[in-house]
Amino acid sequence: MTLDAAALDARDPLADLRDRFVGADGPIVYLDGNSLGRPLRATAERVRAFVEEEWGGRLIRGWDERWFELPLTLGDRLGRVVLGAAPGQTAVGDSTTVLLYKMVRAAVAARPGRSEIVVDRDNFPTDRYVVEGVAAECGLSVRWIEADPDGGVTVDDLAPVVGPDTALVVVSHVAYRSGYLADVAALARLAHDAGAWILVDLCHSSGSVPVGLDAWEIDVAVGCTYKYLNAGPGSPAFGYVAARHLDAGGFAQPVQGWMGAADSFTMGPSYAPAPGIRRLLSGTPPIVGMLGLEDMVDLVEQAGIAAVREKSIALTEYAVALVDRDLPGVRVASPRDPARRGGHITLAHPRMREVTAALWERDVIPDFRMPDGLRIGLSPLSTSFAEVAAGVAAIGQALSG
Ligand SMILES: *Cc1c(COP(=O)(O)O)cnc(C)c1O
Repeated sequence: MTLDAAALDARDPLADLRDRFVGADGPIVYLDGNSLGRPLRATAERVRAFVEEEWGGRLIRGWDERWFELPLTLGDRLGRVVLGAAPGQTAVGDSTTVLLYKMVRAAVAARPGRSEIVVDRDNFPTDRYVVEGVAAECGLSVRWIEADPDGGVTVDDLAPVVGPDTALVVVSHVAYRSGYLADVAALARLAHDAGAWILVDLCHSSGSVPVGLDAWEIDVAVGCTYKYLNAGPGSPAFGYVAARHLDAGGFAQPVQGWMGAADSFTMGPSYAPAPGIRRLLSGTPPIVGMLGLEDMVDLVEQAGIAAVREKSIALTEYAVALVDRDLPGVRVASPRDPARRGGHITLAHPRMREVTAALWERDVIPDFRMPDGLRIGLSPLSTSFAEVAAGVAAIGQALSG
């Protein structure tokens, strides 16, 4: 593999799509698209048109005309383009954390008589905190997996801890720190063999790694839309519930609200859940926050998720090769096998906290993760090979300075 960034950019079939993003032609070296993706130019226009025409012009009629169904119609599109989910199983709304709560509560309620929720110690904090909270609320206990911090949850980690007491297994598809890409299909089989459900968090995979929720027989999944789906700060999350659970009526989430009720506008005396995935909704959904997601789903569809993944692998392979060549003393705290790695890598060194701060001053933007990791996220559609080269060179300078 050549390490010449200009040559790699010249032969990148998706290079032209960088122009679609605000600022991608500017001076900032942005290596944190896995925390907050760059906005699409199309979104600036879509938000303006929404305010002036759809909201400003249609006013309350907008709910009847489009907004009431948007959480589900957009969920279906996201399901088809990004999640490998047939229609009727995905809804957009809430934050990831709130959806996690609703999903974990629903899952443990669907497995009565089972006393444990399994989660790994290195999962994203909010996932662990929600699991701890639901366990306390429902009188269950948390069964912790100690996974390799430079890797993630494997079949060998999960096998000894699932059993007849397990209600639910909670895992991230791509680990937020190491970038480990879990074999969630195999983890799902293990959970199911034990009679448990599996909840997969897709925050760090959706939009950069192909996902096959239906094919993998995942029970429930959540993910955010502001990382590799570029929908903006605080844009709503999405939730997936497998049709087999919706059809059986075996899915009841705890935040019963009028927007998820069988008939929102009869204003009935008591709650009856809507049939299908609408029951995942609670209150009025954040329509403005969905506008950027519509644009990014369009773009991912145009590029094709397989091509997105191919570029993602090329970017992380390139970053690892540069680090190996140019940054002695820095450890790649991420899987070296691209098949087991998502769209970001973490570089460990005792000085990474101050290095990250120094880089931000120079408009080179990675992020820092405890205890000693500088994390670079390579959002496939908006990141160039030249940006990766400039970023790794800047890390080298900061470390030698
Ligand atoms: C980013 C991220 C979250 C964020 O949760 P919010 O409620 O959107 O703040 C949750 N889980 C994982 C694995 C993440 O990477």
